[in-house]
Amino acid sequence: MKVVIAGAGFGGLKLARKLSNKKGIEVVLVDRYNFHQFQPLFYQVATAGLDASNISFPLRKIFQKSKNVRIRLASITEVKPTENKLVTSIGDIDYDVLVLATGAATNFFGNRELADHSFPMKSTLDALQLRRGLLLNFEKALIEKDPLELQSRMNIVVVGGGPTGTEVSGALAEMKKHVLPKDYPELDFSKMNIYLLEGANKTLAAMSNQSSIDSCRYLEKLGVTVMTETLVKDYDGKNVLLQDGKTIPSKTVIWAAGIKGNIPAGIDKNMIARGNRIRVDRYSKVINQENIYAIGDLAYMETPKYPNGHPQLAAAAIQQGKLLAENLQNKVVAKPLEEFEYFDKGSMATVGRNLAVVDIPKPRLHLGGFLAWLTWMTLHLMLILGVKNRFFVFINWLYSYATYDQSLRLIFGEYKDEPQ
Ligand SMILES: Cc1cc2nc3c(=O)[nH]c(=O)nc-3n(C[C@H](O)[C@H](O)[C@H](O)COP(=O)(O)OP(=O)(O)OC[C@H]3O[C@@H](n4cnc5c(N)ncnc54)[C@H](O)[C@@H]3O)c2cc1C
Repeated sequence: MKVVIAGAGFGGLKLARKLSNKKGIEVVLVDRYNFHQFQPLFYQVATAGLDASNISFPLRKIFQKSKNVRIRLASITEVKPTENKLVTSIGDIDYDVLVLATGAATNFFGNRELADHSFPMKSTLDALQLRRGLLLNFEKALIEKDPLELQSRMNIVVVGGGPTGTEVSGALAEMKKHVLPKDYPELDFSKMNIYLLEGANKTLAAMSNQSSIDSCRYLEKLGVTVMTETLVKDYDGKNVLLQDGKTIPSKTVIWAAGIKGNIPAGIDKNMIARGNRIRVDRYSKVINQENIYAIGDLAYMETPKYPNGHPQLAAAAIQQGKLLAENLQNKVVAKPLEEFEYFDKGSMATVGRNLAVVDIPKPRLHLGGFLAWLTWMTLHLMLILGVKNRFFVFINWLYSYATYDQSLRLIFGEYKDEPQ
């Protein structure tokens, strides 16, 4: 059975690892990057807390000892279900079984202006671009003569109060407090404003009410202006236009307000559900397809426990990848298949130094503050791939905890007076 896996994110990688060295199965793992990205820590790369290489892991190294997993570096463009072919930038790849695990991309809800002018955070490259943009912004602020222009450089707007928006806002607030005044002593950081805009009536709306309350309190304690029930209508690179007509002048807008499934062409439009996700059955098989599966952020599976689909989280993608590996092996030996259901082990988000929130469903428990922060750090350390990466992340965290600093504020690429 030749299994082609499109995407080496949390779901695709788990599936490939579980199928590695399994008899009767050949695996081709296709991704546009030659490394796996640990998305939960993108915000630390973006705010110069971690080096990008610390949260990236080369795919070829993971499968060095595998006899049946082949890696292909390619961009996936289309699926041809009738021909059993995956169309990629390096040519067509034949499959017996295709697993789509291409995750999700930033959703700007069709607003071209927003997409052109704001910073997304959906890849390591996005995180590095944001770091560059943030640092260049302050370099430009130093030489700004016009007070209004200067203020718009000192205003950072984060859109979306989910875990990504909350975490990046907290990290920016810590930079404002501990790092930026030392790096740019000529600037008055009392004038720096960090706005977190959220459409719902609370931050971390998918977590417990207590986590929402705590996260908002922590952010405000760190000096972030949290604006709930606030919708962004447009952004032209200078002013953020809100639904109520008000504007916030800002040269730096971080967009963390939505994602949509990364679906290659060739998938039946009737199989596409809310959020641009592909409808799958309880075995992750795309509805009306015999040999095409979808897992992770891209997949939309309705179950009695999750009638609106599973949460788009790393844990759900990993669990789907793991079960699909078992089911594909069961298929080879004609054993019965097992239905998927997501096992929620809990959710968490960190806001800043000693400040985090953790929700555990069973037994129902909410942690906040230092204990939650320690839990968050331990779990993320455990999840990072590779002993070396784990070690470097730990050392980095220890160093910045002790010194309130980091030495990763590098602006790569020659500086030209470029438009943002
Ligand atoms: C900033 C951020 C923070 C997050 N924090 C958390 C968290 O704390 N906890 C949590 O559980 N979840 C978190 N998530 C969500 C989590 O990362 C996703 O749910 C998870 O990555 C989904 O896994 P996946 O395998 O479906 O897709 P992904 O992990 O996104 O993998 C998709 C893969 O497909 C590849 N790909 C996509 N399109 C193509 C193409 N056309 N051609 C070739 N390759 C392609 C990509 O390069 C990528 O390697 C976070 C996400 C972001 C963006």
